[in-house]
Amino acid sequence: MTMLSLVAPCYNEQDNVRPFAESVRRELAPLAGWLDYEIIFINDGSRDKTLPALQELVAKGADNITVLDFSRNFGKEAAIYAGLRTAAGDYIAFVDADLQQPIAVVREMLEFLEQNPEYDAACAYQETRLEGAGMSFLKRSFYRVINALCEVPLHTDASDFRVIRRPVAEAILAMPEYHRFSKGIFSWIGFNTYYRPYQAQARRAGETSWSTRQLFRYALDGIISFSTKPLRLATGLGGLLSAASLVYMVAVIVQKLLWGNDVPGYPTLVVLILLMGGIQLIVLGILGEYLARVHIETKHRPIYLQKGRYHCRRGQTPPADAETDEQNMAVTR
Ligand code: UDP
Ligand code: MG
Repeated sequence: MTMLSLVAPCYNEQDNVRPFAESVRRELAPLAGWLDYEIIFINDGSRDKTLPALQELVAKGADNITVLDFSRNFGKEAAIYAGLRTAAGDYIAFVDADLQQPIAVVREMLEFLEQNPEYDAACAYQETRLEGAGMSFLKRSFYRVINALCEVPLHTDASDFRVIRRPVAEAILAMPEYHRFSKGIFSWIGFNTYYRPYQAQARRAGETSWSTRQLFRYALDGIISFSTKPLRLATGLGGLLSAASLVYMVAVIVQKLLWGNDVPGYPTLVVLILLMGGIQLIVLGILGEYLARVHIETKHRPIYLQKGRYHCRRGQTPPADAETDEQNMAVTR
């Protein structure tokens, strides 16, 4: 029997988790002849009733379900990592819990991988984006910038909605960095990935947890995690400015020799001082961004902390009180 693990990060998805589980059951039932599956929900510090909703699913015991309960919100990337560590399947699928990513597409990606052993992973990308023109433009610009800066190309629009084989999962787990930029990680590890378009659905309930500011931060994280080119920018800028000032110096000398000196250039001086100060601060800022990440990484803090774990197996009566698995409190990297 082939095993599929579905990893679903949940942040404030109280009204979505049950329909999600139902949708999984409905869509994967036709494959019951050769496929068994488990759902791994990660409660990423939700502030609503997501945890009780998940515990209710576990108590029903209708499916193979594991719930990892984080001690606070660690972000989707950390949730994916935790899910991956728990997943036992031959195939692992990353799916949002808000039903924007249809389970039918997971099934199609899975069937594709079954039939095409030369591919290691299948990824679905949004053909037409649901968001506004402004956001769409920002995202496209981000891909242009990051692809110009990073050695490994990022597939435009490629999301983390994908199905991977076990060796790919092992490769991702071998990257225990704290700042996790999954799009970059997926490209960096390589492997043969099949890309297919899909139509994202509207969010079933709740709202997106990404603000424009967070997206900007995320984009910056991505660039800094996967490129050191901004650091080289300082050298380039320094060289350019030195060359420019040499040219200007020659010009001033020539001017002095030919026409004498009438002490001009006060505005030029002010502009140059401000410009140089600004450039130096920008470069310092870039250095700081990298240094901050080195600082965090060297602390070797865990990527997430789990305070509880609940699980049930299909057909088995669940324990009366699905208790916390003590050994899971100690999360190592
Ligand atoms: N999510 C999470 N932790 C967070 C933010 C989001 O686990 O801090 C989950 C969320 O529950 C959803 C998925 O990540 O299943 C995608 O989030 P969202 O729908 O807010 O993003 P969008 O679809 O708008 O890009
Ligand atoms: Mg969503």
